Amino acid sequence: MSEELKTFIIQRACALDFGQVGVARAEPLPEHGLRSWLQAGLHGQMSYMARDPELRLDPRLLLAGAASIIVLSSNYYYSAEDETDSARGIVARYARGDDYHEVLVAKLKRLVEEIRERAPAAQTRIAVDSAPVLEKEWARRSGIGWMGKHSCIISPLYGSWIFLSEIIIDLKLPADQPMEDRCGSCRLCLDACPTGALIRPYVVDSRKCISALTQLKADQPIPVERQAAMGNRLFGCDLCQQVCPWNQKSTKPTLESAFLPRPHFLSPRLTDLAGWDTQTFQRMTRRSPIRRTGYAGWMRNVQIALKNSG
Ligand code: SF4
Ligand code: SF4
Repeated sequence: MSEELKTFIIQRACALDFGQVGVARAEPLPEHGLRSWLQAGLHGQMSYMARDPELRLDPRLLLAGAASIIVLSSNYYYSAEDETDSARGIVARYARGDDYHEVLVAKLKRLVEEIRERAPAAQTRIAVDSAPVLEKEWARRSGIGWMGKHSCIISPLYGSWIFLSEIIIDLKLPADQPMEDRCGSCRLCLDACPTGALIRPYVVDSRKCISALTQLKADQPIPVERQAAMGNRLFGCDLCQQVCPWNQKSTKPTLESAFLPRPHFLSPRLTDLAGWDTQTFQRMTRRSPIRRTGYAGWMRNVQIALKNSG
């Protein structure tokens, strides 16, 4: 039954346009580096990462009887290059379309309904960044990809342009083999990071990372000494992923139209953004992850980018 159920889950996930499906055993992660990363303060202002480390390190605390973790990847790549003009801002690829949380939660719920039709007693918990789940570790263990030295998961099929989501389930499904590291001696991402946030392979100091800094809300100020390195980046940062050779090879376009860029987030002119009022922000960021910074946080980023472009 479990092999059959796994095959069914893979088929249904593919029908919902998930790119990959892998299964890992739900077990504690005592060797994971989360605690030492937190103790060193490398999570910076991402205080949510410091909450509930026990839950993150043991999925059985998230779902009683958890036996397997189904990991799904969703390719969000599309062909659209940033303009190099410093008078224009840059939004990370993942954030130019609809909020992936909303898109993926809806799909996961449908998938769970279908699983329940086959296994009515199954208990599940879904996660898309929404639960304290160490998704990269589960993606590695389930064979979706390996952890690149930039700390993103790299899929051999889609590079690192993927969203991850999980279904924790109390059924024992056949587990996949973990993916081996394929970075080799490459260190292009470490050399490309403009702030030294990749303090060593696989370890990000969030206090220096532009991606983390630009996603702070207005009441979490960006240290002045970090602002110049942000350049014209408005939300997120793709630099370490752009230089990765695996992303040069992986250019399959996404099947999900909701992930495609909105025109106003594709190399927007900074002076245009500076004129946005609250209503414009609300309208332009409807169902967008950028709304998370709030209007004041977004305008702070616009002002920093304008200062850096002058
Ligand atoms: S996202 Fe940008 S700032 Fe953060 S580690 Fe990558 S290159 Fe560095
Ligand atoms: S740039 Fe090189 S070292 Fe960095 S993640 Fe890609 S393959 Fe690995």
